[in-house]
Amino acid sequence: MTDRLGENTRALRLPVSPAPVGDPLRTPVHRSTTYAFATSQEYADVLNGTAAGYSYARIDNPTTDAFAHAVAAMEGAGLDHEVRGQAFASGMAAISTALLALTAAGSHVVAARSIYGNTYSLLDGLFRRFGVETDFVDITDLDAVRAALRPETRVVFAETLSNPTMTVSDIPQLARIAHEVGALLVVDSTFASPAVCRPLEHGADLVVHSATKYIGGHSDATGGVVVGRPELMAEVRSARVDLGPCLAADEAFLLLRGLETLPLRVARQCATAAEFAAAVAEHPAVERVDHPSLPAHPGHALAGKLFDQGRYGAVVTITPRGGREAGMAFADRLRVATIAASLGGTHTIVGHVGSTTHRQMSDEAIRAAGIGPAAVRFSIGLEDPQDLIADVLAALDGV
Ligand SMILES: *Cc1c(COP(=O)(O)O)cnc(C)c1O
Repeated sequence: MTDRLGENTRALRLPVSPAPVGDPLRTPVHRSTTYAFATSQEYADVLNGTAAGYSYARIDNPTTDAFAHAVAAMEGAGLDHEVRGQAFASGMAAISTALLALTAAGSHVVAARSIYGNTYSLLDGLFRRFGVETDFVDITDLDAVRAALRPETRVVFAETLSNPTMTVSDIPQLARIAHEVGALLVVDSTFASPAVCRPLEHGADLVVHSATKYIGGHSDATGGVVVGRPELMAEVRSARVDLGPCLAADEAFLLLRGLETLPLRVARQCATAAEFAAAVAEHPAVERVDHPSLPAHPGHALAGKLFDQGRYGAVVTITPRGGREAGMAFADRLRVATIAASLGGTHTIVGHVGSTTHRQMSDEAIRAAGIGPAAVRFSIGLEDPQDLIADVLAALDGV
C-alpha cells in the first residue's frame, strides 16, 4: 500500500523513529507542535484531560513541562503538600499571567515600591487601564503594607530580594498580613533563586521567576516560571493557554540544563559575592556597599532566617563617592566584569544603576529610594574571586 503512494505523500510518511529509542538520559527537545492519535476518542480524551497526553504545543509540551516540574520540585522541596509549575516565554510573561489569573476589574494590589521596572509599569499602566488598582509601598514597612490593604485587595506582590539594594522581604509576615484580608502573597524570587530561598516554604502562595537569570544561568535562554498549589496553578494554566506566552521547547531544554547546576553555581556565586562585598566595604572611595551578607545591611538578620545557610544572593551594589559620572567612570574602568544588562549568569555583569534601570529618576528620587547616584550593580559570576576583587580595587583607585 505504502509503495503505491505518491512521492509527496511518501516524503511525509517517514517514521518518527525507525527503531525503539529507549529512555534518553537527557530530556529531548520536543519540537512537534501537534501529536498523532490512533482514534478520535483518544484525541478527545487528551483534550478533555481525562487521559494523559499532549495535543498542541501552546497548551502543553513535554520539554517545557519537564522544566516546569523540575523548578516546582526545587521550590516545593520542603513542603508536605503538592505544588505545580507552569513555564512561560519570559519572566514578564510569568508575572503578567499570574497577576491576570488572580485579579479582575475592581481588584486591588499592594506591591513593593522597589519592584522590577516592568512589573511596576505593568501594574501602574496596563492593569490600571483594566480596572486593577495598585498601591506601591515600602515593603519593609509592615505597618504601611497593612494600612494599604482594602477589602478588594487580591494580591500582595513582593520580591525576595530587590534591585539594587538587595532589600530582603519578610515573607512570613507579608503572608500573614495578606491572608488576614483573604489576599494572596505573590513573590518574585528571581534574585534569590530556589538555591537561596523558597518563598512557598515561608507562606507565599505563588512564586514567580525570570528563569532568564539564575535558573538558566548562562545568559542564553529567556523564560519564566510560576509555582504554587494545584488549585491556584489551574487558574494560572488556564490564563496561560488563553494568552499564549508558552515557553519554546528549545529554550526549555537550555533552562533545564541550567537548572542541573543551579545549586553549584549559586553557592559559589553567593560565596564570591560575600567575599567581594567584604573586600570593598571599608574602602575609602566607597560610600556604601549593599549585600545582605554584611552585618550592617538592614536585611542581614532576616536573610539569616529565611535563606539557606551562608547564601545571601550574588548581586552586590557598590556606591563610590561622587555623582552619576563617578559611577559610570568606575564601571568603565572594570576589566574583568563586563558592562551588560541582566544578571544571574556565569559572567560577572555590571551596570550603573542611575543611567540604566533607574534612568528615569532624578538624583533626589534616587537618593529617596535609598540608592546613591553613583551606584553600580554587580551580578557576581563564576570567575575566581581574587580576580574580581583585584579588578574592583583597581577601578576604585581611580575614584
Ligand atoms: C529580569 C527580571 C524580570 C523579567 O524577566 P524577563 O525574563 O526579562 O521577562 C522580572 N523580575 C525580576 C526581578 C527580574 O530581574
